[in-house]
Amino acid sequence: MLTTPRAWEVIGTVPDPEVPVISVVELGIVRDVAVDAEGAVAVTITPTYSGCPAMYEIEKDIRTALTEAGASSVTVRTVLSPAWTTDWIGPEAREKLRAYGIAPPGRAEQGGLITLTRARQPVTCPWCGSRDTELKSEFGSTACKAIHVCRACRQPFDEFKAL
Ligand SMILES: [Zn+2]
Repeated sequence: MLTTPRAWEVIGTVPDPEVPVISVVELGIVRDVAVDAEGAVAVTITPTYSGCPAMYEIEKDIRTALTEAGASSVTVRTVLSPAWTTDWIGPEAREKLRAYGIAPPGRAEQGGLITLTRARQPVTCPWCGSRDTELKSEFGSTACKAIHVCRACRQPFDEFKAL
């Protein structure tokens, strides 16, 4: 019989499709997990970025993992408020992002709608730590990441977009 702590563990093994080195739990998008007496699981998630196509994949992967772990049914509910902020990414996951070559998102500002303001601010290069970086494209390998290039070490890197 699936318990709530076990369901959290199972979801904790689901990698983020964007960045497979961190799980969707580490990314901070799983807001709530509840298992009822019949083993039906209700999962509440908040997308990192509106219009991020990876969210559909995440939902499917969570469903599959929980079903394989013995859930009688899985309901995934998407909640947009409060909006996900990069503050929900834990320190360990930030370090994994940096090691993977993705600039750990900066602290989100109040209010949530920060894409445009953040895009104009310098982003720290995850390879050499230089702040002399340049935004190359608002859309990286996926709609949820932006591509930057470091002027100091000339390495390209992805940045997680926050909302
Ligand atoms: Zn660099």
